[in-house]
Amino acid sequence: MDCIFCKIISGQIPALKIYENDQVLSFLDIGPLSDGHTLVIPRKHYSRLDQMPADEVAAVAKVLPELADAVICATGAEGYNILQNNGKVAGQLVEHVHFHIIPRVSDDGLGYRWNAKKYPTGKDQEIQRKIIAELK
Ligand code: 5GP
Ligand code: ZN
Repeated sequence: MDCIFCKIISGQIPALKIYENDQVLSFLDIGPLSDGHTLVIPRKHYSRLDQMPADEVAAVAKVLPELADAVICATGAEGYNILQNNGKVAGQLVEHVHFHIIPRVSDDGLGYRWNAKKYPTGKDQEIQRKIIAELK
């Protein structure tokens, strides 16, 4: 499979590793949005979060707080974003599930876009019903 992150896991291409265990690998992003921009990935290849077994997601989630704390302490950042893109439309370029830890400082110029809208009457309940139906 031609997956750049699988190649990092197998050692075919180098990465600046931060942390690893049986299920998870973490390394610096090669194109950082800020100093210390870190990626956390499952060792097994999954394209999207919704394809992962819950215990694999849990293994990644389990290390996120400690990694985020280390990244923030090491860089002196004031905060951070956890970003996880699924699908091209959502900005996913590498089709191997990954969580970004993006350190943030005041006036870092990265910005934050949250173009909230309002539901037309009744649409929110309709969507709520549909999602709940999918869970059954
Ligand atoms: P996405 O847009 O898919 O959520 O993010 C992919 C991220 O992977 C980007 O931030 C990009 O800089 C990073 N990336 C792509 N190729 C490599 C690589 O070969 N090594 C490392 N360390 N990061 C990579
Ligand atoms: Zn992969």
